Amino acid sequence: MRLKSAMIGTPWARCIPGANELFLAKLMKTLSIAILVSAALAALLGLGLSIQITRPLALLDGAARRIAAGELAVMVPVSGRDEVASLSASFNAMTEELKRLDEAKRRIIADSAHERRTRVTLIRGLLEGVIDGVHPLDMDMIKSVHDETLRLSRLIDMLHELELIDSGELKLSLDEVELIPALEKAASLFGPSAGEKGICIEVGRPDTDGARARVDVLRFDEVLYNLIGNAIKYSPKGGKVLCTARRAGPSVRVAIEDSGPGIPEPEREKVFERFYRMDKSRAQDSGGRGLGLSIGFEIVKAHGGSIGIEDSPLGGSSFVVTLPAIPTPA
Ligand code: ADP
Repeated sequence: MRLKSAMIGTPWARCIPGANELFLAKLMKTLSIAILVSAALAALLGLGLSIQITRPLALLDGAARRIAAGELAVMVPVSGRDEVASLSASFNAMTEELKRLDEAKRRIIADSAHERRTRVTLIRGLLEGVIDGVHPLDMDMIKSVHDETLRLSRLIDMLHELELIDSGELKLSLDEVELIPALEKAASLFGPSAGEKGICIEVGRPDTDGARARVDVLRFDEVLYNLIGNAIKYSPKGGKVLCTARRAGPSVRVAIEDSGPGIPEPEREKVFERFYRMDKSRAQDSGGRGLGLSIGFEIVKAHGGSIGIEDSPLGGSSFVVTLPAIPTPA
């Protein structure tokens, strides 16, 4: 009853008229219990809340450590709609992306090894045929071996270029270039191969000037050669290829259109992936490796531009390269 005696005669007791000792003692007891119960409830609630917050964070921490150790198939549970749930969802999305990139990297390594092996096997087969007396050692044979060697060396060059791109070591030497003459030069180089298939290759002249951009001439030519080469390769005999360049607001738009089979909507992103060939047998017959467009995509990106595919009025596809334009000199 120390509490009771402490209360009696306090200013508090004096300011409640008619309060007697017993009533005050009961009030104090009830108040004390209420305070203790509230404190216990608050502590329990705090503990519950802290478990609710720290448990997902502990799970995230554990998952991050497993990923750092190379285990990429790790997911964390997402429950609720709070910030921690949103963090967990972002974490899962990041893991998915890491897994996808890892699978793509493995596929690229396997595909590039396969491509090199195929070319070397072809050259070896031709030479062994000569040694065994199965094939005569004539000019045709030497030309076949030479062609295969050129393809192998082109493949090695392309893989090297991709390595440069991946390691961020692709250096561009930019010059201001008029794009119509650049297209005319590229088209004239393909004149003979277009002629062999009876394909008419044309460079359109826009009504307005301004088709100028800052490009690395050698690398941009490489992009144009791949696009024009593909347009001829995939167009039927007697088809048509049209190359245009024109100013479109703050950009220039270079389009290579063809009368080939076109590229269906679902394939349009995939053809820019490494080693992707829409029709594998057809592309292999024509010596395709599925690398040209992926390199072109990266080169255009390094110029601050983009490359996409649209339907062409000629019946096939239209590969559209968009680059930042530079103003025409006054
Ligand atoms: P490839 O050396 O196989 O032609 P690319 O990267 O240049 O490699 O092209 C990838 C794939 O995109 C080709 O295998 C082909 O299926 C498709 N493709 C590219 N250009 C065209 C085109 N103009 N018309 C139809 N299909 C095309």
